[in-house]
Parts: sequence; C-alpha cells; structure tokens
Amino acid sequence: MHSEPAGASPRDERAEQLRANLAVVRGRIKDACVAAERSATTVRLIVVTKFWPAGDVRRLAALGVRDVGESRDQEAAGKAAACADLPLRWHFVGQLQANKARSVARYAHMVHSVDRLTLVAALSRGALAADRDVDALVQVNLDPTEPAVIGPKRGGVAEAEVPKLADAIAGAPGLRLGGVMAVAPRTMPAAGAFDRLAEIGARLRLNHPGADVMSAGMSADLEAAIAAGATHVRVGTAILGVRASLG
Ligand SMILES: *Cc1c(COP(=O)(O)O)cnc(C)c1O
Repeated sequence: MHSEPAGASPRDERAEQLRANLAVVRGRIKDACVAAERSATTVRLIVVTKFWPAGDVRRLAALGVRDVGESRDQEAAGKAAACADLPLRWHFVGQLQANKARSVARYAHMVHSVDRLTLVAALSRGALAADRDVDALVQVNLDPTEPAVIGPKRGGVAEAEVPKLADAIAGAPGLRLGGVMAVAPRTMPAAGAFDRLAEIGARLRLNHPGADVMSAGMSADLEAAIAAGATHVRVGTAILGVRASLG
C-alpha cells in the first residue's frame, strides 16, 4: 500500500498556512524587540500546539520551530511520543495536578505553571524517577480579583508566596528554578501587569541570580510582554488558528 505522510505531500496547504502565520508572528516579535531596543535573540517563541494534532507539530518543526507548548498531560504525552524523533523542547504551560506531575516530568523540558508546594515535590519525584532535569517557573497570579472573575481560573500564586515557592523549587532535586510566568489578567491592561511580573522576577534574582526566565505574552499581547522584558512568549492562536474548544 502506498501512503505518504501529509507533511511530505507536494501541496500541503496546512503547512503553507502555518508558514505564513509563523512569519507574521516572527515579524511581530522582531518589531517588538526593535521597539524595546532588545536583541531578537533574547526572546524565545514557544508555539502552543494544544488541541492541534501531532502532524501540525511536525510541520512546525520543519519550519524551524524548536519549542512547543501544551496544557494537558494526556494530549502532550501522546504528541511528545509521536514526535520523539524531532529536535523539540516541550513546555508545559497549563494548570497541573500533582497526580500528573510524574508523567509531565518524563517529557517536559520546562514547566511554566508551578503554583503549589505539593506540585514542587511531585515534579521533583517525577524528574528523579525519569532521571531528567526539569526547569520550573513560578506562575504568578497578577489579578487580586481573580476569585470573582467568571471563566476558567488562570492559576498562579499570590505575589507574597513567590519567594517560598521559588526556594522550594531551587532546593528540589531534579528541578531547576527558571524564573516566573504569568497570564495577563482580564481585569487590567496587559502592559501594567507584565511590568509587575518583571519586577517580581527582578526581586527573585536577588536570591536566585540564574532565574532569568520571564514567560509572558500570548497571541493578543506579546508586544506588551516583550516591552516589559519577556524572555519566552507563548503563542497559539496567531499561528495555528482558533481552537475548537476553550483551553
Ligand atoms: C493557550 C495558552 C497560550 C496560548 O494562547 P493564544 O492566545 O492561543 O496565543 C499561552 N499560555 C497559556 C498558559 C495557555 O494556556
């Protein structure tokens, strides 16, 4: 039987669409870096592929993407296995339950969403069991009104809890403290929120000088994040299109 992987067919429209969208997003990142007087090499693009098939991850890898983001363990584990031959770094960006930490530690290079001590311990055990080092970011909740906000919770610890969680990560075998992450709150302008995150990151580096990752910025607000100093932007919709379900 003759079959060809979709990514290798001569006219792969999806690949062309991803190529075009990727060029637009890379252009936006470059322009934002110019505006912020930053070198474009200081910002890493993570393409968030959640809800899209492994075939899209493969197409993106062929277009030079090296960092992909996922938000659900089951989906991510399957795609990471299906794409094990590709030179990719997997970023876990979604809210994470401690009972999934062991699985996530097997494939994730960086977990962006650490917001509880129980999660630190579980990820550490998972990393040790998998004999891997995993980078972990403290996810910060920048929205004091969050409990009242309608819609999916965005996660994260209160600012006051950041040092305790960071110390726990830094002291956990198998984990490396990477820095901080946040999702812009719905209740305030992104620019102010990201400036706040940058300050929290700077304060963290007084005790943890190597924790220089600031993960912030999505399809709608990556410019504001780069202006504030983001080192990692997480972009889904602007590259892959609108997801079939929320997440
Ligand atoms: C889905 C998701 C993204 C990507 O969001 P887009 O608006 O599709 O670019 C980034 N970060 C997190 C934590 C996400 O869950």
